[in-house]
Amino acid sequence: MDDTAETDLLMLAGPVPVAPQVLRALSKPMINHRGPEFKKLLDESREKLRGVFKTENDVLILSGSGTCAMEAAVGNLGGDKKYVALENGKFGERLKVLTSLYGSSVAVVADWGTSIDTDRVKQALQTGADAVTLVHNETSTGMTNNVEEIGALCRKHDALLIMDGVSSIGGIEAPIDKWGVDIAFTGSQKCLGLPPGLSMISISDRAWEVIKTTQKRPYYADLIAHMKSAEKGQTPYTPTMPLFFALEEALKMLEAEGLSARIDRYSTFATSIRAAVKAMGLELFPQLGASSAYSNTVTAVNMPPGIDFFTLKKEMKQRGIIIAGGQERLKDQIFRIGNMGNLSKGDILQAIEKLELVLLENGVVNEMGAGTLAADCVLEGL
Ligand code: PLP
Repeated sequence: MDDTAETDLLMLAGPVPVAPQVLRALSKPMINHRGPEFKKLLDESREKLRGVFKTENDVLILSGSGTCAMEAAVGNLGGDKKYVALENGKFGERLKVLTSLYGSSVAVVADWGTSIDTDRVKQALQTGADAVTLVHNETSTGMTNNVEEIGALCRKHDALLIMDGVSSIGGIEAPIDKWGVDIAFTGSQKCLGLPPGLSMISISDRAWEVIKTTQKRPYYADLIAHMKSAEKGQTPYTPTMPLFFALEEALKMLEAEGLSARIDRYSTFATSIRAAVKAMGLELFPQLGASSAYSNTVTAVNMPPGIDFFTLKKEMKQRGIIIAGGQERLKDQIFRIGNMGNLSKGDILQAIEKLELVLLENGVVNEMGAGTLAADCVLEGL
């Protein structure tokens, strides 16, 4: 029985549990996407998103998942651009692929789950680059990269900074303007607690200057076309209307909770999950260095001896908790627990408790290790 039940707790690294009021918004009757009602929704959502991104820059909403915004970011800068692509996980790798597809790219690669070496970034920038790509929160490894440091280097070398904030914006502190990020983007199915299918992208004046000179931009994700339409309160092509209704609702919820309270909530969840898995004797996957931290939206854990991922996933599912595995080269090496979306402290405790049960039953942890668990969670404020 692989099918997800309505009562299952989705603790993937996205999609995430969606609040009932957001789900209900999806079923609203359609409206004219060229009329005043849609204009109001779009204008207000774009304005609120500027607050979420902590930016004065333009924010556009694209109908398409996070990768749509990734491709828009790189594709709109033009084919003659030289990139430095920073990779320490699957999504850094995806940006590397996109930069070499659209331009030319020098990659600074670290083993997945290890820190990016800033000295190597400096060296790469000294050879001249138009833009740098970086993933803020590497969902594939549960590691958060230091954007501020890279932002300062980009300014020094007059390069644009493109930041993937798909699993961070709205859930981990990410002050786009303060860090000097020129293009930042996120996806709907992560920290904002929506279903998948929308992406949001911010563009600085510096980046617009470059985009305006680009001869061949992508068609569907042409940011100039999107900006022109946004100024009229529209999108260039038919928007995924139900998701825009859902966004309106999700942004209301975020406003009511407060951005810093949301960030604190995710941080408490992730800190507790990390404390719990460590108390069970498991190891976190990321090897932190000077320029990285544990992620506060997704926890990646080394698969412990005595159980394989298939069994863990199956037995967690039997107890109503859906967890994620490792991607590509990390398949069967790690498991991941996401803590974004409509989750409560009780949900997190339940997930930890079920994990403990599965590991106990499989002889992976002993009663002693498990016994310290609750205490650790309480200590972490759960
Ligand atoms: N970047 C990061 C950091 C992600 O976590 C993801 C998806 O998990 C993506 C990009 C791609 O987004 P999507 O799957 O919505 O296209």
